[in-house]
This record gives sequence, C-alpha cells and structure tokens, in this order.
Amino acid sequence: MEITRTIKKLLLGLAAVTAISATAQDKLAMQAPTDKTLKSIEALKLQKSLAYEDLDMPASQLYTTWETERVHYYPNAIIPDSFRIDLSGYYMPTESRKITSNYGYRRGRMHKGLDVKVYIGDTIRSAFDGKVRIVQYERRGYGKYVVIRHPNGLETVYGHLSKQIVKPGDIVKAGEPIGLGGNTGRSTGSHLHFETRLLGIAINPKYLFDFENQDIVCDSYLFKKAKSSAGGSGIVYHRVRKGDSLSRIAAKTGSTVSKICKLNGITKNTILRPGQVLRCF
Ligand SMILES: [Zn+2]
Repeated sequence: MEITRTIKKLLLGLAAVTAISATAQDKLAMQAPTDKTLKSIEALKLQKSLAYEDLDMPASQLYTTWETERVHYYPNAIIPDSFRIDLSGYYMPTESRKITSNYGYRRGRMHKGLDVKVYIGDTIRSAFDGKVRIVQYERRGYGKYVVIRHPNGLETVYGHLSKQIVKPGDIVKAGEPIGLGGNTGRSTGSHLHFETRLLGIAINPKYLFDFENQDIVCDSYLFKKAKSSAGGSGIVYHRVRKGDSLSRIAAKTGSTVSKICKLNGITKNTILRPGQVLRCF
C-alpha cells in the first residue's frame, strides 16, 4: 500500500516537472518572431532565467523565501551547523584595493561590512552569478543599495551607490555591472559598503575577499554556526602567496603565529610554499 502511494507520488512529481518545462517551452515559443530585437532580448532574458532556475544550487537548500523589500528577514530560517561556500566563480566588486573601514565595532555599533574606497561613478560589479533580490533606497542607512542572492548560498549587499542599474529579479553574471559608486545614505565620502551574508548572518568579507590583492582568500569558505547569537564565525584558510611570512599572514587574518603553527602542525621555522593552504582559525 505504502509503496504504491510512494510510486504514485513520484509519478505525480514527474508529471509536474514535465508540465513546468512544457510551459517554459511555450513561453519561449511565444516570444518567437514579430518585433525582432525587443522580443529576442526578452527571450534571452527568459532563457537566462530558466537556465538559472534549473541550476542545482546550494542556495536552494538554505533559503525558503524570496523577499524583495526587507534586507534581513528570514523568519523560518534553519541555520546549518556548517555550510561550505564555494567562492571559485568570484569577480571583484570593485577594482579598488583600498579598505577605508573594517568589519567590526565602530563608534559603539557593529559595522557588518567592509568599506572600500571608490569614487562617484566607479563601476560596481556583482561578486558572483546571482539573482537580484532588492534594489532600494535607505536615506539613513545603506543609501541606494542592491542585494543579490547567489547560488553558492551567499547574499551580497552593495551600499551607498550613486546609481543602481539592475532591477529585482534580474539574473546577473559574476562581474556584471550592477551600479555606480557613490556617497548616498549614511556615508561621509564616496565608498562602497560591501556585505557578505548567509541567511542574514554577516560574515566578515575579509575572510572571503582580499581587495588589496584583488583575489579571494580561499577557494571555499566553511561557514560554522556560532554557539552564541553573535553571528557567524568560521574556519579561516589562507592561501600562501610569494613573499608571505607567518607573521604577515597572522596580521592579515587577525590570527597569531603560534595559533597558525598549532592548527597546521608546523613550526615558525617551516618554509612556506606559495599555493599552500593554511588554516588560520
Ligand atoms: Zn560601511
């Protein structure tokens, strides 16, 4: 009895899947000739969006809602104990290498992003492939900002823009321009306020992006649920570059030489090889 029911359910599920792709096909077919340029742009957009929805993405295990107004609203979120975030498809949001303010406590309040120096009109790009969730204006906060959800599970926030050039629902590629640098909202001097979050939990962008070297810090980042409610903490890896020393890596990641030695079973005299990955936390 139970088995027949399961099979029935499976068949129904399959039928639903087939039905969805048939509609998708129809939608594409309907976009066909008539006004060539406009229709083909629309068809391309639709194709892009269908291809995106078809992706087997880690993000779909995490997020159950799609909210286009509120930035940090995850009413029924189940935060996994750990979650690996693949950073390999990254693109630096800006060419700027200058950090003007770090993540952390600042003037008595938590600054949950990284400030990167940009000038008004500088191109700001999506850090990964993704789907634009929010395009809004917050006078006393982010100013003109954009929030993008990425298949790897991260959401990125880009604040203080002078212009937003995407719309909610847009599918963007890593590196695709999403706005222009600016000084809107709670900001003194033009800069990009950049946040990286998982289910609304802020992760220090410095653990993921190395703006000075225009690179990612590691190919993947292991998010670990914090024991307290203080937010995300994680295991931090660092890929050794030419000229790196243990003290330099310690300074860069906010760790200490002895901690890095202990975590990796090395001594402070061990010779580091470029490309070698060290755990720093
Ligand atoms: Zn900021």
